[in-house]
Parts: sequence; C-alpha cells; structure tokens
Amino acid sequence: MTEQASVSLFPWQQDDWSRLGSNHLQKHHAMLLTGLDGIGKREFACLLAQSIICSRTANESLDQPCGECQDCRLFEAGTHPDVHVIASEREALEGRVALLGEYANRYQDAAARDKKANPSQVIPVDQIRQLIDRFYQASHISGRRLALILPADRMNVNASNALLKVLEEPPENAYFLLVTANPSALPATIRSRCILERLSEPAIEESLSWIQQQGTVFPENLLLERSGPLDLLAQLESGTLEQKNQNIRGVLGVLDGRTDAVELASQMSKQDSSEILNWFQQFCADLIRWYCVGQVPGWQGIEYVPSSMNIMRVYAVYDKISTYRRLAREQLNGQLALEEILISLRRAV
Ligand SMILES: [Zn+2]
Repeated sequence: MTEQASVSLFPWQQDDWSRLGSNHLQKHHAMLLTGLDGIGKREFACLLAQSIICSRTANESLDQPCGECQDCRLFEAGTHPDVHVIASEREALEGRVALLGEYANRYQDAAARDKKANPSQVIPVDQIRQLIDRFYQASHISGRRLALILPADRMNVNASNALLKVLEEPPENAYFLLVTANPSALPATIRSRCILERLSEPAIEESLSWIQQQGTVFPENLLLERSGPLDLLAQLESGTLEQKNQNIRGVLGVLDGRTDAVELASQMSKQDSSEILNWFQQFCADLIRWYCVGQVPGWQGIEYVPSSMNIMRVYAVYDKISTYRRLAREQLNGQLALEEILISLRRAV
C-alpha cells in the first residue's frame, strides 16, 4: 500500500486508474480527460497531476503518488511552483476539489472576482498567455511542469488559439491535462493534439448505493437522469433534482400536447440559462439513445412517452442547443431559445 494522496479515487475509478494512472500521461504530453458530469473527473485529474509531479512515481513504479517526497508535500500544500491550474472564475470558486481552486487562484484576481455577483464562466486568453510565460521559464524543482485546464471547453477562441501554439511546440517535460465533459465543444485542432480518454461511469445501481453510503436517501418517486453520482448527490441536496423532474414532466407534457410550450418556456427561463441548456441537451441525448439503440434513460417510469420520434429532428435540436450554449455565455434571450427548442421537439414526435 502506498501513502494516501491528497484526494482519493472513487470506487468506480479503479479500472480507469489502472489504465491511465501512474506513467500514462508521460507517454504523451497532452491528455483530454472526459466523461459524464459528476463522476469525479476533477479528483481523478488532481491525482493524475500529482502522479506526474511526484518524484518517486516514475522512478519506483508506484501505483499512486507517494505523498512523502518534497514534490508531493508541496503539491498537497497547494504551493508547488511547477503546477499550473487554469480555470474559469466560477470553477475556481465552486469546483469540488479545493486544492485545484487554490492553484487556480494564482491566475486570477481573487479580490475582484469575489466581489462579482456572477463570476465568469469563461477562461480568457490572458490566463493562457500568463501560463505560457511561466511555462517557458525553467521548471523550478521537479524538472517537470504541468498545466491542468478545466473546464477546458470554457476557453474562449483566443485562449484556445494561444494554447494550441504551446501544445504544438511544448517546452521539454511539459504536460497538459485538459478536463471537460464536452470535448466536442473544443476546437478540433486542440482535440487532435491530445489523446482523448473517457472515464467510466458507474451503473445506476452503483450510483444509488454510493449515494446511500453518503447518508442520503434517494426518494423513490424521483425520476433519475443520466448524471454521475457526485452530481446526483449535490442535486438531491440542493433541490435541483426535483426541479429537473418538473422539467422532464413538463417537456414530455409538451410532446404529448398537454402542456403549452410558451408557458413552459417562460417557467424554465427562470432557471440558470447555462444549466437549463445543458440539461436540455442531455435530455435530447437521452431521447436519441433511447429511440436509436433502445438505451432506456434514467427517467423512465413516466406516465407518457412518445411511441416514436423523428431522431434526425432531435439531432437538429441537439445541435441548435450547442449554438445556444455558446451564446448563453454572452447574450441570449432564454425564453425565445427555450420556446424554439420545445416547439422543434414537439415537431419531432
Ligand atoms: Zn511523491
């Protein structure tokens, strides 16, 4: 047994770790780590980052970072000079792994950020430029340097372009770890420079039993959706899962002709626009998987489901939501966008 590192893996990540942990990233300088929301990508990435930085992992073929060497001690204290975390303001403040937030603070004006009512969800080009400046200087102690970018799909166009240059000509012993649940939202040029690794998601029964182990009971009448257990737990605790249940019933009501699309759009537009669009896109993906390959969504057991759907139309709605999601970061008329989505979905029945 090796020493406990600063974060630990979740039970469903053991196989992924055997495949990707220890020296995997050192075989390729850039990895795009992806997978469903709420399965613990940050924790996994954090441990992977420490594994790269640990001076003993590579030399002694340890399964996990040693937790004892100078690099590990600095890493866990949030003070390692060769570790760079680039994140949106929102992520730095609210991301689940506090250690990553501490590293991200180095690249942010925390005082200005903390006064904002709505911290930015975008990674601006300045952060990437700063990263590049620091990255091309000699590494300070470990001989390696590591940049962790999350959520990578939040880089704006200029930030992506700047990152692309350093991905194309990385300094020696530099490693990049990009984390996102939406790899398709990244430019193809960035994706092609990284190896793409998708982390596993636990089966729904495993998720529920893990949630129960955390001391939270899952109400029986609640419909599930395709989300990782960490997200489900957080949503249960905050009441968002109940809200989403109302969304599911509402949208299926529109498909059935029982609920008025405009009225529902008006109710839905009161929710956070980026979250509701994200939810809608997952809902469309659920429909596509269900009607194309028979993969039953978590929210089955509902009173009404359409007997057939024109899947090409659902795909078109899915694509349209991608556009709205990009617009949502700047300006979007949420009510109109939601009306459009609902009416287009109704036409797919
Ligand atoms: Zn170590």
